[in-house]
Amino acid sequence: MAKKKPSLMKNILSGFFCVVIGLIIGFVGTIIFSLPDSYKIPDRVNGSSNVSSGLIDSKVIEESDLSIHFLELGNKYTGDCILIKVGDTQVLVDGGSKTSSISHITSYVDKFFDEKDNVLDYVIITHAHEDHYAGFATNASTESIFDYYRKDGKSIDTIITFSKTNKTASNKMFSNYQRELGEAIASGAKHFTSLDCINQTKAGAQKTYDLGNGVELNFLYQKFYELPSTTENNYSVCFEINQGSKSYLFTGDLEKEGEISLIANNNLRPVELYKAGHHGSKTSSSQELIVVIQPKIVVVTCVAGSSEYTSKNENQFPTQEFIDNVSPYTKNIYVTSLCIDYQANQFQSFNGTIVVCSNPMTQSQVLCSNNTTILKETEWFKNNRTLPANAVA
Ligand SMILES: [Zn+2]
Repeated sequence: MAKKKPSLMKNILSGFFCVVIGLIIGFVGTIIFSLPDSYKIPDRVNGSSNVSSGLIDSKVIEESDLSIHFLELGNKYTGDCILIKVGDTQVLVDGGSKTSSISHITSYVDKFFDEKDNVLDYVIITHAHEDHYAGFATNASTESIFDYYRKDGKSIDTIITFSKTNKTASNKMFSNYQRELGEAIASGAKHFTSLDCINQTKAGAQKTYDLGNGVELNFLYQKFYELPSTTENNYSVCFEINQGSKSYLFTGDLEKEGEISLIANNNLRPVELYKAGHHGSKTSSSQELIVVIQPKIVVVTCVAGSSEYTSKNENQFPTQEFIDNVSPYTKNIYVTSLCIDYQANQFQSFNGTIVVCSNPMTQSQVLCSNNTTILKETEWFKNNRTLPANAVA
């Protein structure tokens, strides 16, 4: 039997439906593209999106529900000191690389210190390496960061430290730290280790702390809170700051084996910001971690190109391997300081002190004290590093 020809009416009807569907698609597309940015799904195209940036502006910081300050330390030594400010709540993470940085750190923190309650709410010390805990490990006659926040009516509420170390009291700096910590506890500060926070067995120890403004501090488990490691770096306290759908990840100097454990034990997700593990060392920021967290912004706290730890250029912070691992996911890499000549004690600001300001529904802003040039656009990068072929444009 011959096939029945489609009727003229059927052709007209199917043509009509095609036009209607086309119009609907066009209409929905127009609506999506005309929505304010805050209602769109964030442009994550592997971190290729431009980040809003500018010079440090105290008004922008004040108006942000959350600001994260990566301090330049004012010397040629790489180290960590980070202030997290949420309304009247301050969290100080690590205390710089030298005791000579203490006054530099406290005068910066004072600018954001809430004098109404006079309380430094949280101090987190990630691990027992000089470039992270020097400011807390002074000799008895020098004022430590703990001492500073115990005088003139000020106090520290909670101190959270690494749960393991290979250091013993025979190490002068470590015994100084133990004494200073002991004095802070004796004067009323609560003290928990990272493992206390995970297990919540000690009264007051929490895995998650509410910092206010809808922001929370959440400690992340990794196996070296309990198991021995040959490197102190793996004892690093790891945590995330969560603000609505945005997450900010801090892993101290955790190395690859610790990162693998971190992934296995937590529900890590793409992050707004990642503090480059171990100052952009090749021992951290493994591909395994980066593929999970796909950072949009990366801050490297280091004195770039310094021979402090190695004379081999490609292994100086931030290392070529770090660039290779991170660049396929983001171009928004910022670095605190730049080494000119380590032996001659010459250094300068790279981006300088870097402040990431964040409100829940809008794009984060990166503010820098020196300039806002992303790493790959800098002269230092062009002379010392290679952008991998799979880097985002
Ligand atoms: Zn370090």
